[in-house]
Amino acid sequence: MKELKCPHCHETVSIGATVCKGCQAEIEYGTPIFIVLIIFLISVFLGVAASDLGNSYLGWGVGVVVLVSLFVGSEKIFSNRVKFKRIYKT
Ligand SMILES: [Zn+2]
Repeated sequence: MKELKCPHCHETVSIGATVCKGCQAEIEYGTPIFIVLIIFLISVFLGVAASDLGNSYLGWGVGVVVLVSLFVGSEKIFSNRVKFKRIYKT
């Protein structure tokens, strides 16, 4: 099992853990949530644009194809991404 090192407290954390046991930083894997949101908005936008041009079936088709292809692409790009989110408590 591979291990990660927390950038905040330098504690070693096993891959798959969601919280650092040293400093309680949240650990996020894969595609960032705002990227998922942007992908979703692009798909809806293109789907609506396509349904304006043709019919609503075309719009749904375009929307789904764009959504799936962008999502698969982003999963590849962000597959090795690990982010430690430290929540500072005052
Ligand atoms: Zn930590």
